[in-house]
Amino acid sequence: MIGAAAPEELGLVISGLLVARRAWRFFTFTDTPPDPNDPLVPLSPATTPALLAAAPGLAYSRGVQHRILVRLALAGTAALLATAGCDPAATPEAAAPVAAPATPAAPKAGAYNVLVVVMDTLRADALGAYGQQRPTSPVFDTFASEGVLFETAWTQYTWTLPSFVSYMTSSWARTHGWDYSMGKLDTYKVLDSKTPTMADVFTKAGYATSGHFANMHLKAELGFGRGFETWQLGTEAATVRAAVADIGKWKDDGKPNFLYVHLMAPHVALLPTPESQAAIGVSVAYEPKKGISYDHYVAAPPELKEQRRQELVDAYHACVRDGDNDLAEILSALKASGAAEETVVGFWSDHGEMLGEHTHIGHNQYVWQEVVKVPLVIKAPGLAPRRESQRVGRLIDAAPTLVKLAGLTPPPEWQGQSLFEGEQPIVAAERDALVTFLQNGWKSVEDRTKDKFMYAHDLTTDPQELTQVKDVANPGVAPLILTAQAWRAQVPQGENTGGDLTLDAAAHAETVQQLEALGYTDKPDAAPK
Ligand SMILES: [Zn+2]
Repeated sequence: MIGAAAPEELGLVISGLLVARRAWRFFTFTDTPPDPNDPLVPLSPATTPALLAAAPGLAYSRGVQHRILVRLALAGTAALLATAGCDPAATPEAAAPVAAPATPAAPKAGAYNVLVVVMDTLRADALGAYGQQRPTSPVFDTFASEGVLFETAWTQYTWTLPSFVSYMTSSWARTHGWDYSMGKLDTYKVLDSKTPTMADVFTKAGYATSGHFANMHLKAELGFGRGFETWQLGTEAATVRAAVADIGKWKDDGKPNFLYVHLMAPHVALLPTPESQAAIGVSVAYEPKKGISYDHYVAAPPELKEQRRQELVDAYHACVRDGDNDLAEILSALKASGAAEETVVGFWSDHGEMLGEHTHIGHNQYVWQEVVKVPLVIKAPGLAPRRESQRVGRLIDAAPTLVKLAGLTPPPEWQGQSLFEGEQPIVAAERDALVTFLQNGWKSVEDRTKDKFMYAHDLTTDPQELTQVKDVANPGVAPLILTAQAWRAQVPQGENTGGDLTLDAAAHAETVQQLEALGYTDKPDAAPK
């Protein structure tokens, strides 16, 4: 096919072959880095179809012949990228750099307190500042208008514990290795100490550090309180009270403070208060104390009727409003303490929630936008408020961002970078056997166990992710495959070596019961109850 090119395009064909050679070497499965000195000459659109046509059978397959075809396909992809002026050896984002937002000069270390509020299971689109029409989040919306809101932000894992480890240690799950099966207590291991946590960094810098959390999953026995001087589990109300009391002591403790608050209002069991139901104009019936619950493990049955689904959404939104009221108490305490102007505040969620989309509820082993996309706001003294629409926020970047805004230095083990520095890094999220990538409005899903592309979605034309694009030569898909390859080259495979979780029989039974209350059971009845 290449031989059919017109003579005047011969030079361009040679350029294409050079690009193909680079792509070949990039994908030889030997981890040999491409030569940055290879010459690259842009190809004409007339040449790339010839290269692409030379690579039928684009599916990933075993066997030498298929591997060659795959390599040819990727070579064609590389040529296509060259047509667009991209260098396939560079990270794809480098072709379209995103200017880093302006940030204030670093303060003297210890000049600022740092407050982190994480609201578990909070979908970005449940908040007014992210487009929700119901009045679910007046307090959050005001807070967000005073900071930098990332219009698109991704968690790095779609259930609590690996997500928590990722943002607390600024590490990918591929590296930190704490990605055991959700809710399967007997598979859990204690978090090891190979990477400093955000709390470790602040404690070492002389901060008073405390964490208050309403998700029993984060218990100290699993090592999740590492680095905190205080790590305290409580109910939602007790957690808010403890946070408020903690802030009340800031002015007198003679130290800068790091406070982490983990709220649970939108997590099952859903127990929306009458006040919040009234505030957003819904009415939800549920058994007192038991609330509305569902199992995360099994797909919502097709018979999940629209009326029942709407009740679920109503309850969820009312619970978000309850969470907003919790946030109000914490921010009011901060204001009353007189320390608000000397405090860096971060707000995000560990993951979202399916509410009937794709016939799923909860947050099980999938990576749709409903669970991957999370709210992310950073507010700091001197940081101009704005909505960031170009750069995609990543939760592994939260810790280095907060640490730097506090005038400290992130430890070298951390894999994230400040949200306000450098170019857009690779955006990805992991979950069980899946890993997903986001770039230029396209999203790919790969098999994490086989490093194998599965399908992609064009989020611009298909925001609901209804159409799977499997053509690897598609101009939207091809860069994502290169991105996945680059990510695997950058992110080492690691293992959590923290040892077995030891709980006595009573504590084990109690923990299993608590997990069931959060919807982590294997019961066959998965319908919302
Ligand atoms: Zn969670």
